[in-house]
Amino acid sequence: MSSVQTNLSEIHARIESAATRCGRKASEIQLVAVSKTHPPELIREAFEAGQRAFGESRVQDALPKLDALPAGIEWHFIGHLQTNKIRKVAGRFALFHGVDNENLAVQINRIAGELGVTANVLLEVNVSGEESKFGFAPENLPAALENLAPLPFLRIQGLMTMAPYSDNPEEARPYFAKLRELRDRLATQTGLPLSDLSMGMSGDFEQGIAEGATIVRVGSAIFGSRG
Ligand SMILES: *Cc1c(COP(=O)(O)O)cnc(C)c1O
Repeated sequence: MSSVQTNLSEIHARIESAATRCGRKASEIQLVAVSKTHPPELIREAFEAGQRAFGESRVQDALPKLDALPAGIEWHFIGHLQTNKIRKVAGRFALFHGVDNENLAVQINRIAGELGVTANVLLEVNVSGEESKFGFAPENLPAALENLAPLPFLRIQGLMTMAPYSDNPEEARPYFAKLRELRDRLATQTGLPLSDLSMGMSGDFEQGIAEGATIVRVGSAIFGSRG
């Protein structure tokens, strides 16, 4: 087996046991293989090993890969999207994880409408409040959702966050727990299901699963380090 194939089976086994430990089913959790910085050949290897969802974070790096690789791939945009790039990506990604401000969401809706597509999005939340992080402040979400929920070409599927960097994955858990609590509260307030929680990366996806992640974004544990 190639190392990508071996790594993928290990990640699946770890998702399975993390799910089992907290009484969940592994089938409730989608693995997005984060392929940013990696060449199409490596993505193809993962595809041939059965992986279907891949995550990219830069428009200019992603588009040539989308063009070169099989149409059966489900692409996720996980980065910070600039408004002047929306037109290039709308309709080409199954889900936008990093919608981090209201204006971006409004512009995505407008351009999706012009192109005749619907954009599936997750609102990125800066749960930790770190200055360096993108995302909505939790206290701004209720008003943002009220404004965004009626937009016809935007489907808000849930929330996404990144825990602060730490060597100890357990330190991520309280941030993931907060995202879930926030989602539960917002879903009750707005009546939107907000069913997806995208939280957990190579270092902390098991903690994400324990706190209710429905999507984990795993890069280096599958493809190796980005150098
Ligand atoms: C790069 C990246 C990941 C993957 O990180 P790894 O630690 O390599 O698993 C996940 N989510 C986002 C938003 C990223 O930018």
